[in-house]
Amino acid sequence: MSQHIEYRGRFAPSPTGALHFGSMVAAVGSYLQARQQGGRWLVRMEDLDPPRETPGAAAAILRALERFGLHWDEHVLYQSQRSEVYRTALQGLSAQGRVYACGCSRREIAANAIAGRYGPIYQGMCRDGLAKDKQPRALRVLTHDTPISFDDALLGHFEQRIESEIGDFVVRRADRLFAYQLAVVVDDAEQHITEVVRGADLLDNTPRQIHLQRLLGVPTPRYAHLPVAVTVDGQKLSKQTGAASIHEQRPQTVLVQVLRFLNQQPPRELVDAQLDELWHWAITHWRLEQVPRKNQPASLFQT
Ligand code: GLU
Repeated sequence: MSQHIEYRGRFAPSPTGALHFGSMVAAVGSYLQARQQGGRWLVRMEDLDPPRETPGAAAAILRALERFGLHWDEHVLYQSQRSEVYRTALQGLSAQGRVYACGCSRREIAANAIAGRYGPIYQGMCRDGLAKDKQPRALRVLTHDTPISFDDALLGHFEQRIESEIGDFVVRRADRLFAYQLAVVVDDAEQHITEVVRGADLLDNTPRQIHLQRLLGVPTPRYAHLPVAVTVDGQKLSKQTGAASIHEQRPQTVLVQVLRFLNQQPPRELVDAQLDELWHWAITHWRLEQVPRKNQPASLFQT
C-alpha cells in the first residue's frame, strides 16, 4: 500500500504590524492551495525579533484571520517560545563543524563585501578563525558553490551558488537572536510542512533554506512563490510604504480584491456573498496555474 502523504501548508506572518493587502495575498494563496487539496493549513507566528515587533500585533493578526474566515488547523506555533529547539539545531550544525563565529562589524562587512544581485556578498573573512583583535559576534554557516536548485510550482527552475552569490550566512545574529533562515527551516520541519506558499520576495532565500535542510537532515518541502503586491513605483507593500491595514475593512471586499490580484476571476456578486459562500467559491475554483508570475501594484485591485 502506498503511503498517503497529507498536504500541509502554512502562513507565517511576522508581527511587525497589522496585516495589509500584501500579507493577505500570502495568507489567502497558501490557504486556498491547502484547502483545495483537502490539506491542513497551519499558522506560525514569526515573533523572533522583538525589536522589530509591534506590541499586540500577533493577537491582532490572529483575530483578523478569524474575522476573514481563514481558520487554521492545530495550534499556532510561536517562534518566541522555541529558542531551545533552535539552540539544539545550531549545536547540531556546530558539531558537524559547519558554523563559525564572525567578528565583523556591519561597517567591516559593508567595506569588504562585493555587491551581488541579492545584496552584499559576505567574503568569508572569519572563515579560518577570528583575527586577534576581534570578538565573536554573529554565527555563520559554511556554504559551498555547488548550485542548489529547486522547481518552484509557479516560477519554475531556480538555482543559486550560495557561496559566491550570497556567502556564508548568519544563523545566529550578533544580538544573539536566531536568524530567520534557521528558525524557518527548523519549524517547517517540525510542522511537517509539505508545501510552502509565500511571497516571491523570499524566492532567493529558498536555496539557503534547502542548504540548511540538507545539513540538518530534514525534508525539503515543495515551494510556490506568489507575486508580491507592490506600490506604483515597484516597492514591496509594507507598513513603511504606507500599506493600509485591512483590520477595519470588510472581509468580502478585501478577499475579492485578493482573488483578482491572484487572477482567479471571482464573479462580481461575490462581494455581497456570505463569507462561507465566498470561501466555497474560492476553494472550488482555485487554480494555482492562473496566478500571475509578476509582481503587481496593489492599487490596481483596490478600487
Ligand atoms: N515571516 C516571513 C514574513 O512575514 C515569512 C516567512 C516565510 O513564509 O517563510 O515575511
